[in-house]
Amino acid sequence: MKVILVPVTPFQQNCSIVICEATQRAAVVDPGGDIERIIAEVERQGVSVEKILLTHGHLDHCGGAKALANHYGIPIEGPHREDAFWIDQLPAQTERFGFANAEAFTPERWLDEGDTVQFGDETMEVRFCPGHTPGHVIFFSRKHEVAFVGDVLFAGSIGRTDFPRGNHADLVRSIREKLWPLGDDVTFVPGHGPASTFGEERRTNPYVGDGVTA
Ligand SMILES: [Zn+2]
Ligand SMILES: [Zn+2]
Repeated sequence: MKVILVPVTPFQQNCSIVICEATQRAAVVDPGGDIERIIAEVERQGVSVEKILLTHGHLDHCGGAKALANHYGIPIEGPHREDAFWIDQLPAQTERFGFANAEAFTPERWLDEGDTVQFGDETMEVRFCPGHTPGHVIFFSRKHEVAFVGDVLFAGSIGRTDFPRGNHADLVRSIREKLWPLGDDVTFVPGHGPASTFGEERRTNPYVGDGVTA
């Protein structure tokens, strides 16, 4: 599995093109906008995009999803249904933040704890991780020990919870009970900033590291 990061939107969100190297088929995680840059990178890689995967309903993560889905004629999977109220607000939010106009949409498939998503020969497990938003999910490749965690966890930080229906206690529980058990060696790609490993965050993260009482 090969992961290409394409920072998108004024929020420098890490859109990931995740490629199954055996089949040259790919999934795009969190196409928040700037879809012409995503499409150019897909062409450069010479892969065929099969689906769009969304971690949560914030505009910098899903603002370009519908346009990209239309461009390739592919389905959108995720996030969890509890984020529908965020996706419904996309047109107003993109206007407010000066993003390119985005349509609201309904994903072909809402995701929940225990689901799996597939592209090419690759499978990723879905974990429901509410807190930053009530319908946030993350994607985990057990085979490659890599996770796409959206705005749940960052290198040295955690997601904001001061949005409508954000919840700090839920977020900390999601990180400790859903992410840490996946293993210290797992590399994660956050929605913003550099990648890290769960083990490194358990050692050093000032919000959710081991021994930090939240
Ligand atoms: Zn977010
Ligand atoms: Zn974000």
